[in-house]
Amino acid sequence: MTQSRLSIADPIRTNDIMRKYKLRAKKSLGQNFLTNEKVLDDIVDASGLQSDEIAIEIGPGIGALTEKLAQVAQQVYAFEIDDTLIPILKDTLSYYDNIEVINEDILKVDLDQFVKDHHLEGKTIKVVANLPYYITTPIMLNLINSDYPFQSLVLMMQKEVAERVTAKPGHREYGSLTIAVQTRMTARIDRIVGAKSFIPRPKVDSAVAVLDRIPDSKNDIEDPKYFHKLIRSSFAHKRKSLMNNLLNWQGRTDENRDKIKAVFEKCGIAENARGEQVSIEQFKQMAVELKKTI
Ligand code: SAM
Repeated sequence: MTQSRLSIADPIRTNDIMRKYKLRAKKSLGQNFLTNEKVLDDIVDASGLQSDEIAIEIGPGIGALTEKLAQVAQQVYAFEIDDTLIPILKDTLSYYDNIEVINEDILKVDLDQFVKDHHLEGKTIKVVANLPYYITTPIMLNLINSDYPFQSLVLMMQKEVAERVTAKPGHREYGSLTIAVQTRMTARIDRIVGAKSFIPRPKVDSAVAVLDRIPDSKNDIEDPKYFHKLIRSSFAHKRKSLMNNLLNWQGRTDENRDKIKAVFEKCGIAENARGEQVSIEQFKQMAVELKKTI
């Protein structure tokens, strides 16, 4: 690469690449290519990637973020589902020798096995991606709940989803997705990104969410299955009180109402509270107490 070569993200270069390969972005695969270098630099800064760390990228597209990651990380593994992009990436990223593009559907990849096969155990691995929005939630939850403790996830997603992921108790956006994420990761929005930063432009605004691993968070929920059932039930009908949602789950008897009331008291939860007012710590305590009681 000559020094004067434009970054892949430069709109002129992106358009050139698209023209050269007669590439049409596939809506069905959530293809919106980032063409705002400042946004890309902010994403890389937010990851804090160091030269001895590994980056995993999901959906490299034509390589705009991938090349920025390769400039700071020791090694980049980029999973791309679309076969037509593979030869293009080979070309656009040919300057870098620390990138491996893997032509697979990220939802079908066993990441724990991947880490073992690539002898990456013990390495600091960070996931950095401009996600395909149609599968944001399953990708994010797979990464959070995988056995390998990815240190951080810096993920561009639809703004509304980022607001749910990073919500605090008492806010409208606080719900089961918030809790699924924040039991294992701290979560904040790094920046909002307007539709103008992409080719083609998406219909929604986007946001970069930064999720950092909470050490040992995997072990502080006694019975994860029960906890998740409690969370699902608590938010099953968002307009209903928590008590009503729990009675729907456990059975609407006077005995159950009294037992739940006693658990609420122990956990400092008001009788008429809604799920969105209950903190994650309170949910954790409630899971233990409810399981003992009912
Ligand atoms: N990283 C590029 C950028 O920032 O310009 C492209 C991001 S684009 C929003 C999402 C990318 O994810 C596309 O390249 C798309 O083909 C890819 N993709 C969609 N579904 C995928 C899946 N299940 N597994 C891996 N990649 C996927």
